[in-house]
Amino acid sequence: MKNAPVYKSRSGWNALLPERRPKTELPSERRFRSIVVGAGFTGLAIARRLAELVPGEEILLIEASTIGEGASGRNSGYLLINPGEPSANAADFAEDWAARQMAIAREGFQLLRSLVASQSIDCDWNETPLAITAAATPRVEKTARETRRTYEEWGLIPKEYDSHDLQRTTGTGYYRYGLQSLTRALVQPAALHRGLADSLPAAVKLLEGATVHALGKTAPFTVETSRGDFLADRLFIANNLHARSLGIARNRMVGIYTYGAFTPELDEREFEQLGEEADWGILPAHRMGTTMRKTGRRLLIRSGDSYEKELEPDEARRMLTGLYRNRYPHMRRHEFEHVWGGLTAVTHNGGFYFGRVQPGIYASVGCGGSGVVRGTIQGKLLAELACGVESPLLSDRLKIKGPIWLPPEPFRGIAARLQIAAEQRQAGRER
Ligand SMILES: Cc1cc2nc3c(=O)[nH]c(=O)nc-3n(C[C@H](O)[C@H](O)[C@H](O)COP(=O)(O)OP(=O)(O)OC[C@H]3O[C@@H](n4cnc5c(N)ncnc54)[C@H](O)[C@@H]3O)c2cc1C
Repeated sequence: MKNAPVYKSRSGWNALLPERRPKTELPSERRFRSIVVGAGFTGLAIARRLAELVPGEEILLIEASTIGEGASGRNSGYLLINPGEPSANAADFAEDWAARQMAIAREGFQLLRSLVASQSIDCDWNETPLAITAAATPRVEKTARETRRTYEEWGLIPKEYDSHDLQRTTGTGYYRYGLQSLTRALVQPAALHRGLADSLPAAVKLLEGATVHALGKTAPFTVETSRGDFLADRLFIANNLHARSLGIARNRMVGIYTYGAFTPELDEREFEQLGEEADWGILPAHRMGTTMRKTGRRLLIRSGDSYEKELEPDEARRMLTGLYRNRYPHMRRHEFEHVWGGLTAVTHNGGFYFGRVQPGIYASVGCGGSGVVRGTIQGKLLAELACGVESPLLSDRLKIKGPIWLPPEPFRGIAARLQIAAEQRQAGRER
């Protein structure tokens, strides 16, 4: 794998937006107080917070791709506040780990919400989404019901949906049980990503189309990029899985590609088959399952998992077409206008890598499949950690366990592929 992700197709979300001119102009200066590597949700939040905390400090934010084309612009647009695993390692944290993790995620949601409002970001922000976690098989229905009981223990009372409700709202009889998910908003992710990048404070210099290849080991740190070298007193690593190529979290994360597709705008007859609600989202109750959204006049479908290697677009299209057809057999056509792959950085225990790596170097990577809200809040907290700003939220975040060690290749790959194949088989109709 290269030093940065290079995808086989454009993000469908980004392709639906008007063309945007990437910021590729090299800065006149080469030395910065802080350099941030990676301009996904995490890197954007780091850079924004640094600019707020240290007025006058020039910050360079380096992005290998263009805004809207990384994972931050090719996800499914769910702003989730459910707690991530693992619980925690500190004794005083374990008891109410879920509440504290959700409090962290909620703060990330609030931050995005206030930025969308204050910067007038047009990203189809929908705070009253019909977002349901749905099960298609009796076995997974049982798990979903257990999840609901856990939510109740946390003081949440998610709404339940039977197969008739699901059929009516989403138009498919595929699912037998659903519960209201902990989604706080649905968005157009590429529009949100662009809006955040294009409204950064003036102190942040965004450089797109520059890949960081190597970092110096001592301060001031040399940052070698495809567009020349820079120097920084402080480094912030937010390039997700590719932090591995910079020597960070090398044996802690694996790359899992998953795939998204958009139908063309559907005609009236086909559109009616997607149920009576204007828009909705379905999240899978099984982790190898399929996400869907009815958005605009299109259906979005996301599914599939491949280890460290992106499927060919035709293969991804075939896989997603089959899943679409299974759910909506009565559609006249099962065509997609856009099909794309996206890379997630997955850890074995679900923990994210967050904190100070060595004096002057900080990292927040490995947000898995729910990093829109989490990446945002972790980015903000990482900048605060570096600037010595203390808060209960930061102290809670620092108590959460990080990702555990993974065996080297080829053992890692063999084990991961076997696990994916077994889980996919076990998922059966949930896929
Ligand atoms: C198909 C799909 C659906 C998803 N659905 C959801 C969802 O609904 N909700 C949710 O919360 N999450 C979802 N996710 C996960 C979410 O997209 C990620 O967790 C999130 O993007 C993580 O943000 P980040 O900023 O940490 O990393 P990224 O978004 O991966 O950003 C890192 C950036 O670093 C850049 N980079 C990498 N290497 C280098 C380098 N060497 N030099 C310079 N730049 C570099 C990359 O180009 C990238 O833009 C989904 C992911 C995929 C792929």
